Amino acid sequence: MLDALKAILGDPERVVTGSEIEEKFLTDTLGRLKGEADALVFPLTTEEVANVMKFAYAHDIPVTPRGAGTNLVGSTVPQKRGIILDVSKMNRILEVDEETFTAVVEPGVVLQDFQAHVESMGLFYPPDPGEKTATIGGNIATNAGGMRAVKYGVTRDYVRGLEVVLADGTVITSGSKNVKDASGLQLRQLFVGSEGTLCVITKCILRLVPKPESSLSVLVPYPSLESGVKSVHAIIKANAGPTAIEFIERSVVELGERYTGVIFPCPEAKAYILLTFDGVKEQVLQNIDRVRAVARNTGALDFITLTDPAQAADIWKVRGCFVKAVEAVSEQEPVDLVVPINQTAEYIAYVHQVEEETGMHMIAFGHAGDGNVHLCIIRGDRDEETWNRELSHVMHTLYKKAHELGGLTSGEHGVGIAKQPYFFRNADPALLNAMRLVKTALDPKHLLNDHISYLK
Ligand SMILES: Cc1cc2nc3c(=O)[nH]c(=O)nc-3n(C[C@H](O)[C@H](O)[C@H](O)COP(=O)(O)OP(=O)(O)OC[C@H]3O[C@@H](n4cnc5c(N)ncnc54)[C@H](O)[C@@H]3O)c2cc1C
Repeated sequence: MLDALKAILGDPERVVTGSEIEEKFLTDTLGRLKGEADALVFPLTTEEVANVMKFAYAHDIPVTPRGAGTNLVGSTVPQKRGIILDVSKMNRILEVDEETFTAVVEPGVVLQDFQAHVESMGLFYPPDPGEKTATIGGNIATNAGGMRAVKYGVTRDYVRGLEVVLADGTVITSGSKNVKDASGLQLRQLFVGSEGTLCVITKCILRLVPKPESSLSVLVPYPSLESGVKSVHAIIKANAGPTAIEFIERSVVELGERYTGVIFPCPEAKAYILLTFDGVKEQVLQNIDRVRAVARNTGALDFITLTDPAQAADIWKVRGCFVKAVEAVSEQEPVDLVVPINQTAEYIAYVHQVEEETGMHMIAFGHAGDGNVHLCIIRGDRDEETWNRELSHVMHTLYKKAHELGGLTSGEHGVGIAKQPYFFRNADPALLNAMRLVKTALDPKHLLNDHISYLK
């Protein structure tokens, strides 16, 4: 296998074999689930990807596509050995077309580099997941969400076209720079969020928008998480067009304060709603005034407009650090479920009830504007066996409740390996069957990320 891969890539440096593969390539960003692989390859072109896939297909070799490996659900853990196909070196921004507000990039372009590049040209790529070192290809493969989804939508909404390599090595392009497309099945929409199970993404045609003229954040402390989360409906109804609406419990803020050294205002609050507004400056200020009125009517303790950019950056730094802040004190299991936006408060109240009943400490934060609840379930000093048993019980309880409220297993991180049992248990069997039919049609030998086994 190794000689064949070296011949395909024509550069032995870009083929790493079994025991020489660094551990980080055998896992996800949390590093708890570990796999094994026979080879790790770094293609530079679509042709190389296609030739690797043709070789794998001919010899029934499993393939795990990989971007930056920042996923939190084990989706890059090669559980069936085979080839890890890392596209991070395919990282060129091929074109930014100001005339059509589009860009064409290779999948390994890092999100923060791409954002900075288009912003330097007065353009804007709105998807903004917390981890900025992820790749654009990984973002597309997971349909990454993030903070700005309330106003701008998620990654899917910015994918105009995709060039992909199918499991047998066939290269297809679905979509184009055109705004409209009713020309047959929109296969690219199927590839977005497919977690590397249907194809390898090799080129991305992305939609851009003009860069907003100004952006301002507001921090609104509340006496309870419930009152804060309940204000979100009124904020959206006020037609103030916020870009982001995040909720954070005070106890979580304290963790972030310790991790970053930043001190949040209004420590007597039990929860905060953190908002951003962007657009034309006067409109931003008017929108903030609208939300100020809502805050007054919904019992907010204060209304802090973060006009000092350094203070705003500090507050967002705390919001962005929670997963790492928790990891610094204890192992934790991240949860990324989503409930209809009017159920967020009820769901968080339920989380607190489960916490009391089970003694399992959980911290909650997330995207209040779209019902995407993030939980960190904290292991503390539980031994392995107790942790696994209690975690499994708590997780099943939490996902069951989310589904009862009309929610879903994942809002943005994906299912991967880690969330399969909960997805499997709560999804409609007929829907799962339809997904399997699609998988088998596009990947008849089930070689691409077949460790994501609900598609078997
Ligand atoms: C601190 C932190 C904060 C985060 N915040 C957010 C957040 O706010 N919102 C959010 O959505 N996610 C978030 N994430 C999760 C993660 O960053 C995203 O899932 C991201 O989109 C993964 O991109 P990646 O390049 O790291 O992909 P990887 O982790 O390498 O891969 C993820 C999946 O995509 C597949 N894949 C990767 N590249 C390709 C390709 N070219 N073709 C086909 N399949 C491919 C892989 O096989 C795998 O199934 C966060 C993670 C961390 C660590």
